[in-house]
Amino acid sequence: MKKHRVGILGATGIVGQRFIQLLEDHPQFEVAAVAASDRSQGKNYGDACTWRLTGEMPEAVRRMKVQPPTPPLECDLVFSSLPGDIARETEGSFAEAGYPVISNSSAFRMDEDVPLLIPEVNHEHLGLLDRQRQRVPKGGLIVTNPNCSTIMIALALAPLDLAFGVDAAAATTLQALSGAGYPGVASLDILDNVLPYISSEEEKIETETVRILGRLKENKIEHSPMRVSAQCHRVNVADGHMAAVRVKFKKEVSVESIREVFESYRSLPQELGLHSAPQHPIVVRNEVDRPQPKFDRDAGNGMTVTIGRLFRDNVLDYRFVALSHNTIRGAAGAAILNAELLIATGRLTGAKS
Ligand code: NAP
Repeated sequence: MKKHRVGILGATGIVGQRFIQLLEDHPQFEVAAVAASDRSQGKNYGDACTWRLTGEMPEAVRRMKVQPPTPPLECDLVFSSLPGDIARETEGSFAEAGYPVISNSSAFRMDEDVPLLIPEVNHEHLGLLDRQRQRVPKGGLIVTNPNCSTIMIALALAPLDLAFGVDAAAATTLQALSGAGYPGVASLDILDNVLPYISSEEEKIETETVRILGRLKENKIEHSPMRVSAQCHRVNVADGHMAAVRVKFKKEVSVESIREVFESYRSLPQELGLHSAPQHPIVVRNEVDRPQPKFDRDAGNGMTVTIGRLFRDNVLDYRFVALSHNTIRGAAGAAILNAELLIATGRLTGAKS
């Protein structure tokens, strides 16, 4: 099968490197172009990028010239991991030029005609692309994935909401350092410390979650009425975001039924056998001291959300701890799964090629 040629915008960053690693042997995509800031442009990728992931930089990209993130690029679609403040103009210009844009950044997440997608949870939101097509001509499109903590929280809440109805959820996050990009937080700020502030993160979790769990009606997303509150903290962990979540249900629910709903959760990506879809989107651990970032972030090749500490709660109804890999399920892996879903549902027909 002919592979789709992809360009990566922000290819030298933490998420960009993860894209390159995850796409190395991908059956449907091959990296054809890399783009980054003027600091890197014109250099070979191997010289511009300080490789920060375990394992070697793939040989195929080492000698690629880093280009400016402006169209045209020799590729059929782009994955974007650009900083939010420049993503809007740049991603918009690629979509205008006819490229499908699969974005990690927050720039378009809340636009009315842009799907904010978790393939297991809200694949029907892809219907928004019919509306987007009226605005973005020539085969261009924009699909986004949620914030790295939102994905894990929304993925855990989705099956519970479907099965029992969730009235309210309160999440306290413990977020890894790689979530701030590279070089990210200064070492003297985080060693022996916890930072109780991550810019815009709490708002993102609260607003994105109700949009993701909302329904598509007449080409608009009707937000879920669920009340969501979030408090976010940066902690001294390399990879793997954690969230302590408390949930209030609309009806009486047993702990066994919650466990059963988590463990049996499967959705369209699993039915379609998408390459990056984990066999189990959610796993539940029974040990009293799990999940832990070091041991659980790589579950399902980094695409599974691990749940533990599931108990009754004295204030809301139940509580649990969720954990997932922030640069895989929370970023590059999420975007690649979105692109696989676009192919499987025939939505990438307008790809540049
Ligand atoms: P990062 O490590 O700081 O990387 C940023 C990338 O963007 C680098 O390739 C950088 O190129 C490029 N860049 C910066 N300024 C630019 C400019 N003015 N013009 C063109 N390119 C520019 O950040 P990251 O953690 O990978 O995050 C990238 C995006 O993904 C952000 O929007 C972030 O919010 C989102 N995201 C991150 C995570 C995560 O866990 N890290 C999770 C979900 C979403 P140079 O190397 O040349 O400077």
